[in-house]
Amino acid sequence: MSGVLVVVEHRSGALARTSLESLAAGQSLAKQLSTDCSAVILGEGVAPLASDLSGKQLAKVYAAEHPLLQQYTADGYTTSLQQLVAKLAPAYVLFLHTYQVRDFAPALATRFGQVLISDVTAIQEGPTFVRQLFQGKLNADYRPAAQPTQAPCFVSIQAGAFRADSLEPAATPAPIEAITIDLAPNQIRTTPSPLFRESARTVDLTIAPVIVSVGRGIREQDNIPLVQALADAFGAELAASQPICDAGWVPMERLVGSSGHTVSPKLYLAVGISGAIQHLVGMKDSKTVIAINKDENAPIFEVADYGVAADLFEIVPALTNAILEAKGNTVES
Ligand code: FAD
Repeated sequence: MSGVLVVVEHRSGALARTSLESLAAGQSLAKQLSTDCSAVILGEGVAPLASDLSGKQLAKVYAAEHPLLQQYTADGYTTSLQQLVAKLAPAYVLFLHTYQVRDFAPALATRFGQVLISDVTAIQEGPTFVRQLFQGKLNADYRPAAQPTQAPCFVSIQAGAFRADSLEPAATPAPIEAITIDLAPNQIRTTPSPLFRESARTVDLTIAPVIVSVGRGIREQDNIPLVQALADAFGAELAASQPICDAGWVPMERLVGSSGHTVSPKLYLAVGISGAIQHLVGMKDSKTVIAINKDENAPIFEVADYGVAADLFEIVPALTNAILEAKGNTVES
């Protein structure tokens, strides 16, 4: 067994942007092991997507097509990948830790007598896979059994842990190989429903140069305009942590973190946000982070370039006024 195989996701005819992060992780692991990295894409009519992938630095792109893979099912993916992994015998199989992967990858690993090392945040020398326990309070190091073994090591990578823009392009396009999957209707025990369609987005946080993000420190919905005013003064987009979006105070499409968007603006201003790991993974790649939090030990200060350990209800209006003043605009009283 050798090499790294990355399972790439797609949706509505396009590669999932976050899957490119798992490819970046695959390239990095392959480099560390002085081995090669390949990618596999499953579905029906995925040839154009395979050809997109061949533009990345990969040993090979496998396109596994079958009419029964036209829509995702856990059984379809598990059975197809079982055949593929048995045939290709990679030493490592990587995925991005998406809802889809959570659905089928543990079953796939089990079919090889393995566990899934899930939601990995870093790959260190060894390789050692780092994942977090107790909501980020502890880091655990996982070292798989020394290679070669009889079964591959299955690993899912946390969104935001690797940067898609670090993905190396191919000097010459990677060869594409079509793989025949042996799949029968009676092997699929579920009937997929039509895909959930998200309502049209009004904002794309991933391209916003400045983001002002609000957390539970804001206390109540009536105080949100205070932070909105700061965002407006900056010409920034408003974003929020999960409790704020869960409460409906800020729309869900503005959520930053592992359940929301991964952003990397020039400036991220975190207001009353503690800095839980699920939030940090969504914004840690921002160029400059400013945090306002009254608790000087809040974890957000560990990733902040500038920190204001103070009451946001004093700082935010003063900052808004200072910005408006600097712009020559009327200052709120
Ligand atoms: P809190 O943790 O309650 O922090 C509020 C902060 O405000 C505190 O640090 C406090 O000191 C400060 N504060 C209070 N009053 C003031 C004041 N007057 N002035 C200044 N500071 C003040 N969270 C996300 O954000 N995004 C995600 O995508 C996400 N996904 C998750 C996925 C899973 C599977 C799980 C289990 C959790 C997820 N979470 C996510 C939730 C996450 O664990 C935290 O609970 C959440 O980020 C906390 O939000 P917060 O920082 O706004 O609130």
